[in-house]
Amino acid sequence: MKWWGWGSPDIEVSPSPRFLRHLEEKLGPAPMGSPRPPVRQPPRLRPARPVSLPCPTAHDDATRLIYSGGRSYLDLIRLRSGGTIDGVDAVAFPDSAADIAALLASDNVALVPFGGGTSVVGGVSPLRGRHDAVVALDMSGLGRIVEIDTTAMSVTAEAGVFGPRLETAVRQQGLTLGHFPQSFEYSTLGGWIATRSAGQESTRYGRIDELVASVSAITPAGRIDAGRVPASATGPEIRELLVGSEGVFGVITEATLRLHPIAAARRYRSYLFPSFTQGIEACRQMLQSSLRPAVLRLSDETETQLSFEIAGTPQLAQRALRFTGRRPGAHLLLAFDGSEAAAARSVVRKLHGLPLGSSPGRHWERDRFRHPYLRDALIDLGYLIDTFETAAPWSRIQPLYEALKKAPSGIVACHLSHAYSDGASLYFTVIDKARPGEEAEQWHAFKARVTDTIVTHGGTLSHHHAIGTDHKRWLADERGELALSLLRTIKGELDPHGIMNPGKLL
Ligand SMILES: Cc1cc2nc3c(=O)[nH]c(=O)nc-3n(C[C@H](O)[C@H](O)[C@H](O)COP(=O)(O)OP(=O)(O)OC[C@H]3O[C@@H](n4cnc5c(N)ncnc54)[C@H](O)[C@@H]3O)c2cc1C
Repeated sequence: MKWWGWGSPDIEVSPSPRFLRHLEEKLGPAPMGSPRPPVRQPPRLRPARPVSLPCPTAHDDATRLIYSGGRSYLDLIRLRSGGTIDGVDAVAFPDSAADIAALLASDNVALVPFGGGTSVVGGVSPLRGRHDAVVALDMSGLGRIVEIDTTAMSVTAEAGVFGPRLETAVRQQGLTLGHFPQSFEYSTLGGWIATRSAGQESTRYGRIDELVASVSAITPAGRIDAGRVPASATGPEIRELLVGSEGVFGVITEATLRLHPIAAARRYRSYLFPSFTQGIEACRQMLQSSLRPAVLRLSDETETQLSFEIAGTPQLAQRALRFTGRRPGAHLLLAFDGSEAAAARSVVRKLHGLPLGSSPGRHWERDRFRHPYLRDALIDLGYLIDTFETAAPWSRIQPLYEALKKAPSGIVACHLSHAYSDGASLYFTVIDKARPGEEAEQWHAFKARVTDTIVTHGGTLSHHHAIGTDHKRWLADERGELALSLLRTIKGELDPHGIMNPGKLL
């Protein structure tokens, strides 16, 4: 992973001239002028505090830098600042659950479990809490596939396994996890569970919390193995405490996940609605008539236009729009792994969706893991580019969407995805001109505006990115003080010295 941005250092994605012109029309000239490769000057790290750990450990600055932040806009601004920044004091490389237990026996070093480091909410920020030093705990040494049970259709794997390796192993048995977050190539099983992540196909295959059958974790107070059977009535489910725990209770070491048969065929369909509102209604009707597309992604008018500027307007769309005299409206992308395409078509037709065939869906699938690379190029040009997401019942989606469209300045694009019978998630991308040298202050003001709006309009602080440091100050608004105090009491029991990921979640 690049230290300054997303993904492989060998891949750079440049914005098309058409897209750049569009940004210039909407926002004025790019703050840093024309696109050219920027000088990459790594920041200096403050001197490391000495630590001695019972497993292989790296202390050099190049390694420390890689583990000193996640991949949020704020992380990237800090890493690209060229100044002097805080970093982890060392990186530990455990190879087994026993190594982790030995690391957790220390009581004066803060430990940050580090999967792929793709957190976008400050989940792996190098915070010491009240301790002398902070160490990132690289999970990649625990990357083994333990068992694929084709009878139960489940896989047991260690938590440090990365998405592609896990999916490839189960595919060889004709099965799939169906869990494809956009960060799939660089994120891990443990990270997915610790953040309650949702893949792009969650509408059919479920979020990670629905896929997890059992979890094992090592906490400073001891080991927990939670959930061994498909379902149980033995009181409150401890597994649920570990799912979404963001490394603050302990380290997830292993999990068993439910699998699905690979579908015989996938059918992509896409439609253009006159408005986002009509598209939302079509999605609601589909979900409430028990249709479960693998992919359901409805872009609002702004995101539809942006995606046409980035990738070109599909030919069928050009013809359909010329023929009907309509404006582009809202683009709905659907993928069906079952035989539901015809039933969906009848819902869509009633709400005036124009069919665009299967090619937009096939292009989306081809490029779906490349889009995050574009963010680096836009930051190079001096744009603030960030995303935020929430979820709400269908009855509150429209007012929440309208309020959030107005909350930040700049281009505010949205899509609805991860849909349920009772509601859906809204995912926003914001592009604005950054104020050079004041990017962090600008971002904090933006974050406060959008998060206050989410809270006021009854959305959740996060549908799948988690809490980390960025959403922490609003958590009591959503959960209530008693629930938070309960979670803090549990943390006190499992992590009495507060060494686990200080400053995150609670
Ligand atoms: C470009 C991009 C696209 C993204 N797309 C999606 C998406 O589609 N869906 C989605 O849900 N998220 C998405 N994310 C967010 C992020 O990828 C997810 O939160 C992911 O689950 C993090 O996994 P990771 O292995 O990188 O975890 P990390 O970033 O390393 O860690 C995340 C949190 O989990 C904790 N943690 C990690 N491993 C363990 C463990 N073994 N035990 C205990 N705690 C642990 C960390 O301490 C931290 O608090 C995206 C992020 C980026 C940058």
